[in-house]
Amino acid sequence: MPVKKLIEVDLGTSPYDNDMIHNRWHPDVPIVAWVKPGDDFIVETYDWTGGQINNDDNAADIRDVDLTQVHFLSGPIGVEGAEPGDLLVVDLLDVGAKPDSLWGFNAFFSKQNGGGFLTDHFPLAQKSIWDISGMFTHSRHIPGVNFAGLIHPGLIGCLPDQSSLDTWNKREGELIATDPDRVPALGTLPQADTAHMGRLKGAARDKAAAEGARTVPPREHGGNCDIKDLSRGSKIYFPVYVKGGGLSMGDLHFSQGDGEITFCGAIEMAGWLHIKVGLIKDGVSKYGIKNPIFRPSPITPNYKDYLIFEGISVDDAGKQHYLDVHVAYQQACLNAINYLKKFGYSGAQAYSILGTAPVQGHISGIVDIPNACATLYLPTEIFEFDIMPGADGPTRFIDGSIDIPLAQDK
Ligand code: ZN
Repeated sequence: MPVKKLIEVDLGTSPYDNDMIHNRWHPDVPIVAWVKPGDDFIVETYDWTGGQINNDDNAADIRDVDLTQVHFLSGPIGVEGAEPGDLLVVDLLDVGAKPDSLWGFNAFFSKQNGGGFLTDHFPLAQKSIWDISGMFTHSRHIPGVNFAGLIHPGLIGCLPDQSSLDTWNKREGELIATDPDRVPALGTLPQADTAHMGRLKGAARDKAAAEGARTVPPREHGGNCDIKDLSRGSKIYFPVYVKGGGLSMGDLHFSQGDGEITFCGAIEMAGWLHIKVGLIKDGVSKYGIKNPIFRPSPITPNYKDYLIFEGISVDDAGKQHYLDVHVAYQQACLNAINYLKKFGYSGAQAYSILGTAPVQGHISGIVDIPNACATLYLPTEIFEFDIMPGADGPTRFIDGSIDIPLAQDK
């Protein structure tokens, strides 16, 4: 028996015309297909922007991207017998790129439109294109690197119930209200006009669209966790909040460094997942679960040698922060970028490498007042030349004739 394709995606059509796609979290989004515990099946997905980004050498599409549309998710899928309080067990049997779309993109948003982790250093829209050759990837915009993908869904989780949704909207709304005009924004409020509520129509659609939670943050149900280790072969346990569970997924990444620091993000791609579902009845209370838990894949890229960069919670201006891991990881990343620039890379190329390659981020110290210590593990074997320090100084491998396309703000 061939594996059943439960949700199909035609990349030549708009995700708004596919009623098995949605881009908001709401308990009223109708379940599009039902399966049984033990079933396995294929789910196809758009890239997270729904096809707004082109495989070309112009970053204007990144500058002009409509972020109120994201993320386009495939689902929700109902599992027979799933009830609130159960754990939905998802085996990611395999994940891949769509054969008609063997490429992905990595980008930095303009500070005016989303920004990113290092937006003060990289305030303009830039994008790099990555070609997918089987399990490997390389970019025509970044010479000298080639690596195996740790392919995974950036976003996967079950539908919230109304009470969870109300809690999310309240707490995020209160945060945004403290500085509503901040650039980049403090959060993302519901936005009805660009909401795609799947098969919901008419007044019911409009009501749900007005309060549907945006898909940007990770939340208790999982959602946009962007965990690179949630790769093919992993097994995930999701809390169930509504009858049937309502599992949705998307935002596939061919590869990503810990932290998804470039925000757009990893190597973003359209693709498919082969998954199997199961249930643990009443598993939430049996195991004291609040957020999803998972077991990683038995197969990961075999990079074992790293050059590790430290960062502490003292910012660019020399200001001391108290055990702030965000600042410490920024500093570790900037230290790695400055190092890679000595080999001829532009800062943008180095930033993109850290966002896409299987880089590890660690919270190394969180008690030694006043400095948190974060570390960034850069795999040395992804480079086609030696990046270790030595007595003769850096061998300049990159001549600077190629860089990542950039779009000036309008
Ligand atoms: Zn993504």
